[in-house]
Amino acid sequence: MTTNKRIYLSSPHMSGHEQKFVKEAFDQNWVAPLGPNVNAFEETLAAYCGANHAAALSAGTAALHLALIMLGIQAGDEVLVSTFTFSASVNPIVYQGATPVFVDSENQTWNMDPVLLEKALKERKENGGTMPKAIIVVHLYGMPANMDRIMEIADRYHVPVVEDAAEALGSSFNGKKLGSFGAMSILSFNGNKIITTSGGGALLSNRQEWIDKARFLATQARDPAPHYQHSQIGYNYRMSNVLAGIGRGQMEVIEQRVAKRREIFQYYKQNLKDVSGISFLEEPDERYFSNRWLTTVLIDESKLGISPQKLQEELEKVNIETRPLWKPMHLQPVFEHYPKYLNGVSEKLFECGLCLPSGSNMSDSQLAKVLLALTACFGM
Ligand SMILES: *Cc1c(COP(=O)(O)O)cnc(C)c1O
Repeated sequence: MTTNKRIYLSSPHMSGHEQKFVKEAFDQNWVAPLGPNVNAFEETLAAYCGANHAAALSAGTAALHLALIMLGIQAGDEVLVSTFTFSASVNPIVYQGATPVFVDSENQTWNMDPVLLEKALKERKENGGTMPKAIIVVHLYGMPANMDRIMEIADRYHVPVVEDAAEALGSSFNGKKLGSFGAMSILSFNGNKIITTSGGGALLSNRQEWIDKARFLATQARDPAPHYQHSQIGYNYRMSNVLAGIGRGQMEVIEQRVAKRREIFQYYKQNLKDVSGISFLEEPDERYFSNRWLTTVLIDESKLGISPQKLQEELEKVNIETRPLWKPMHLQPVFEHYPKYLNGVSEKLFECGLCLPSGSNMSDSQLAKVLLALTACFGM
């Protein structure tokens, strides 16, 4: 019997080990935003990503907010950030009263274009001399940005890099895990990410003082005193020990999750490679290793005979979820007035792209069903 269960873009995929750690939290009554699961999850994350320290937090957005605070970003400062991203990469800049300056993508990775980054830094230096205080580089859909070029340029201009690796846990560049390049990096464990704690995030860094400070700020900035004393504004950004238990169970299978997502990418590619008008984002060379969080395709309507919008509608009719690529931040009503360095790449990606169902819990028959639905739309 055929069932018509909805096929999602990326849904939570439990390993079966999560409840053991969650039960421990209950048994020990560590039902609080601190405890053994939080400590162990932090250690696992730091070791896995090759960073010296990690702080588990309530969200990736909270991690990015704390990273900007640690770098001293305040009202009037500028922060360079990829325009082709999810709004959470940019919101914390505005929380601080600072100004996002958007940098467009390169074709090879869809991530921050090093040429435009250099242009932005050069121009900002020449006009007035107040340099951007940070560069937020996003590794979108798991694909690494060109970290050789970006780190070289950032170092030359002495601007710290924050990696937004929310979508890129398990990806690497030059054999080094993403999240270990920047002065600080952030991860997300939202429900649709490669691993999840239902909601959560982490801040990574090699500098212990930053991670200690992040934990301090994330627990309302309580000064060491017998009473409650505060000399700074704090936040309530720590991760619950219950949710960190889910994270521990998820980290036990991270390599399987990455392998499965990469298999899904290969499946779509192998089966659609001869279709004219559909193309995949390749790893540009052997330095790039993507976790393939989502398989994304670009559609040439003139060759394929169907637009990405129509394709999304048709798949929706058979209960298959797809999604356009991220709408660039410089086109968002809330951000469109900010400065930007553009080359047309992200706008073209937004117009032509589509994300396909890529969850690591998809069955072979679900994958086959998506493929069949796609080829039916192409008149095959
Ligand atoms: C998911 C995501 C975030 C934010 O993570 P939350 O945990 O949802 O706050 C930030 N940046 C990118 C690129 C993301 O995809």
